[in-house]
Amino acid sequence: MIDPSDRQIEAASAELRAGNLVAMPTETVYGLAANAWDETAVSKIFEAKGRPATNPLIVHIYDWTFLDQCAEVPLATEIDQAMKQLDAFWPGPLTLILPKSQRISSLVTAGRETVAVRVPRHPVARKLLKSCNFPVAAPSANRSTAVSPTTAQHVDDELGEQVAVILDGGPSELGLESTILDLTESPPRILRHGGVTAESLAKALHLSVDVLTRGTDKEVETAPSGHRAPGQMKVHYSPRTPVRLKSDWIPVADERAGWIRFHVDTSAEGPEASIVRILSNHGDLKEIARRLFATLRELDQLDLDLIVIDTCEEEGMGRAIMDRIRRASARRDV
Ligand code: AMP
Ligand code: MG
Repeated sequence: MIDPSDRQIEAASAELRAGNLVAMPTETVYGLAANAWDETAVSKIFEAKGRPATNPLIVHIYDWTFLDQCAEVPLATEIDQAMKQLDAFWPGPLTLILPKSQRISSLVTAGRETVAVRVPRHPVARKLLKSCNFPVAAPSANRSTAVSPTTAQHVDDELGEQVAVILDGGPSELGLESTILDLTESPPRILRHGGVTAESLAKALHLSVDVLTRGTDKEVETAPSGHRAPGQMKVHYSPRTPVRLKSDWIPVADERAGWIRFHVDTSAEGPEASIVRILSNHGDLKEIARRLFATLRELDQLDLDLIVIDTCEEEGMGRAIMDRIRRASARRDV
């Protein structure tokens, strides 16, 4: 891992204090950070990303001591109980939806009475948050609907002009966003699959995976005005090049296709592709997740007619991987 110096961290936190945007590495993807108490700074996030104001931001905090400033968790309630059961997941790639505190601006929550909060575990994000005495609002550091960045270079390519400092913490360890768990619903419900599996959350909460994931995948189909996970649009994580699932691919003559394969499978000779990328020799889901977005970005630079992508079982990390590639392959005209 690349480790920015204390001076670079201090410079980044000074920019945040001054109301400017900073790109920070996290274990999921790179985040575009602003002081969550500063509405002008927060509005710069929406501007830089071209993000609709209806899509709320995740607030990142250093530790539990900042939680009370952002959320109101009444003691001895179901939410309080669930938070105790989830203790082991923080710091980590789990975002919790909680009742918001007075102090959190409605700009951050897109007018909702709930707030999304996370404690990241990447050491650079932790150092940065520790040096700030405020929570930091940070969505992924990409233009709205584009592929999330997993390196500092990705951020520089896309948003270099808009950010004051890009902290380079090396390639993101997970490569996919956090899991979003709504604790304001009873029982809790996963709104977005991500770095923590539904199976491990179900175990911690003593619930079945089916209960926890009820309707999660339906968000793909729901109209933007009505959905519970705002911003989980059908078209998301999209390169400019059309993306097609391998199972839907019918090759045509003279087509320049790039094929993203999940593992080496010599027995199954596929149709001809101009470019092939293999994300993992043995189909390891963590490895596939880690390399997925960077590979989509890479192939998007190659002027291909089509990017074809393998599919996997929707279990464990496979749920988050399939969610992202389904959205990446969703047609823009529907
Ligand atoms: P990003 O950080 O770009 O991955 O996007 C953050 C995502 O968090 C949004 O797309 C929403 O789906 C989700 N989110 C943030 N705040 C809330 C909230 N209060 N309720 C439900 N979902 C939220
Ligand atoms: Mg995003």
